[in-house]
This record gives sequence, structure tokens and C-alpha cells, in this order.
Amino acid sequence: MAMRKPGLIALFDVDGTLTAPRKVVTPKMLDFMQKLREVVTVGIVGGSDLVKISEQLGKTVIDDYDYVFSENGLVAHKDGKLIGTQSLKSLLGEEILKELINFTLHYIADLDIPLKRGTFIEFRSGMLNVSPIGRNCSQEERVEFEKYDKVHNIRSKMISVLRVKFAHLNLTYSIGGQISFDVFPNGWDKTYCLRYLGDFQEIHFFGDKTYKGGNDYEIYESDRTVGHTVTSPEDTEEQCTDLFLAKQVGDL
Ligand SMILES: [Mg+2]
Repeated sequence: MAMRKPGLIALFDVDGTLTAPRKVVTPKMLDFMQKLREVVTVGIVGGSDLVKISEQLGKTVIDDYDYVFSENGLVAHKDGKLIGTQSLKSLLGEEILKELINFTLHYIADLDIPLKRGTFIEFRSGMLNVSPIGRNCSQEERVEFEKYDKVHNIRSKMISVLRVKFAHLNLTYSIGGQISFDVFPNGWDKTYCLRYLGDFQEIHFFGDKTYKGGNDYEIYESDRTVGHTVTSPEDTEEQCTDLFLAKQVGDL
């Protein structure tokens, strides 16, 4: 019977790493991950909430892995049990949050851009998603805004104003997609989950978006991890076989 190496954990991004992008995990991959668990401690870390992660990895996900970090670890499960939660609301408090939201809405109200629709701020548990045109614009309007923004830098100008105004809050601003940007506390990327892994001296992280600006970049680059870039679930399986399973055979 194989023995788990103490102090070692294999940690996996979800989308694009254990599943094809926005797809459900295959039974073959699920089997492989359970086989891997026999020789190493296994954790997963996804940016989505637990509901979305369960849709991709299955309803029993919190019991299927040693650690499950949803929302980058703002919600943390170990051995099927909740061990920690954090949110924007509990970190900043209602007063500061209101000041930030009010200022952002005033700024958008004063913005002269060709079109505005609705839902300018989407409140998520770990971040604010801010959209100058409004998230419920149509697909066409979305494309138009992106073009307009490329010329007029609406989002980046707005971010530089927020950065100065709320410098004391230590927030990160991240432009992604066509119409919005995210605002969240510094360090609330995937490295957030590492605070729960103090017992591990060797943390292998596997992710598909490990390039600068990608959502696996910070944890991949972290001094605390050994980073591995993967191109698909098949590649993840292959790399893990070489790293953890083949070595096991050689040791016998
Ligand atoms: Mg990914």
C-alpha cells in the first residue's frame, strides 16, 4: 500500500486544469484524482463559489478532496468541514463599503459615455465588479463599449482615480473581460488559500492561467509553491503521473 509523503500537497486550479474550460469533469479524471489521493494530500482552489465548483466537480466535492478552497480560499473546507470564511463585507465593514460604492456610483453618474444601461456595480462576496456601461447591456453594446474603451481608456482612468481616493484600503484593481473591472483587497487572489497550508513544506500547484494577468499567476509565482503550468486535464494527469505516481513505482 502506498504511503502519503508527509508535508507534501498537490494543489489544483479547477477550470482548464481539472476540467475543460467551463465543462464538467470527466469520470476518468475523477478516478485519477482519487488514485492520486492515495499517495499525496490533494487540494483544489477555484475562483468560483462552491455552488459553481460543485457543478463542475460534482456534489460531493468537499468530501472528495482533502482541501477545497472556493472563491480563492475565502471559503475553506478541510476533510469535508468548513474551516474558514472571509468576505469584503466583514473585512471593510458597512461604512467603508458604502463610501466606496457611493463614490464609484457618483463617478459613473458623471461619466459622459455614449451608452449607459443598468447594474453598474455587482456586489460579490469577495469583490466588487464595476462596469461603467452597466452589466445588463446587450452583446452588441458590450462589443461597442470595449472598442470605445480601447480609445478613451474609461476603465483605466477610473481605476487611477479610485486608486488615489482609496489608497488607504489596499485594494487591487483588475481589468478583465470587455465591460468591467474587479476591485478586491490585496492578496485575495489564489495565494489567499496558502494561509491554511502552513503544515506543508512542499506545495505543488497546477494551473492553466499561470501567465502574468492570469488568475493562477500569483500562486504559481509564489515562493511557497512549486508551480506547474498545464494545458488541459489530460496534461494535468500526465504531469502528476510523472511527478507523484511514477516515482512511487521506482521507490518500491
Ligand atoms: Mg483555470
